[in-house]
Amino acid sequence: MGLMDGKRGVIFGVANNRSIAWGIAQQLHEAGAELAFTYLNEALEKRVRPLAESLGSKIILPCDVGSDDEIAAVFTELEQQWGTIDFVVHAVAFANRGELKKPFSQASREGFSLAMDISAYSLVAMTRYALPLMPEGGSIVTMTYLGAVMAVPGYNVMGVAKAALEASVRYLAAELGPQKIRVNAVSAGPIKTLAASGVGNFNEKLRTMEERSPLRRTVSQDEVGKASLYLLSDLATGVTGEIHYVDGGFNISAE
Ligand code: NAD
Repeated sequence: MGLMDGKRGVIFGVANNRSIAWGIAQQLHEAGAELAFTYLNEALEKRVRPLAESLGSKIILPCDVGSDDEIAAVFTELEQQWGTIDFVVHAVAFANRGELKKPFSQASREGFSLAMDISAYSLVAMTRYALPLMPEGGSIVTMTYLGAVMAVPGYNVMGVAKAALEASVRYLAAELGPQKIRVNAVSAGPIKTLAASGVGNFNEKLRTMEERSPLRRTVSQDEVGKASLYLLSDLATGVTGEIHYVDGGFNISAE
């Protein structure tokens, strides 16, 4: 018996086999879950489709989370195919490279809003459209980073967007708890992915983890996947509104 036998859910955020969402997908699949996937655009579809099919997925849909209509279309399709779902994985974020590189005080109105929209508001919109498909309850997990709660050099607008994302997790959890819908975030340590390549001083962040984090090493997509699996499974039926650190979080030794 797998931990996720009989459970179905959708994963937003696979871009390639280095994506954190892919680490989560593999863990969920191994635990017996049935998965649907979304991809951002046609270029990424070429990478996402074979990955999704390798896990036996039959529902693979386009979705730009900047569009309510596209998010709604995903959940309409899931309702038609499955009726209900048990979980949603939100592993999506975006800020313009230029916006991440410049000093935070120079952030543009457009760049700030875009980071907020794609990286934070999208969780709220996704949750809204998922609700009708979770009449008996469910679990929603998003991905965050330590830069939400402390000023991490180079993280800039994304740090502010992650702070909004973490606050959204708490508000959604408080509102939806009575409906047995749990909302949590996994705060992952730095991992080399497509999105991470836009973050300034990224290699330095990896080195810091190797030298000063409690485990004295970086964490992997699989480890973030296992923590997400726990939060999405019935092992965590009493856990909601939580920011779950996979890397030791604040426990980084001072130099
Ligand atoms: P990734 O590039 O593999 O994934 C980011 C995903 O966001 C991609 O699939 C991309 O297509 C998607 N995306 C961007 N804009 C979108 C839009 N408008 N609509 C739909 N999808 C869109 O990188 P990742 O590191 O796996 O990122 C996944 C999540 O993990 C992000 O929220 C990221 O902030 C978070 N995270 C990453 C790290 C890290 O070090 N890599 C650490 C902590 C948190």
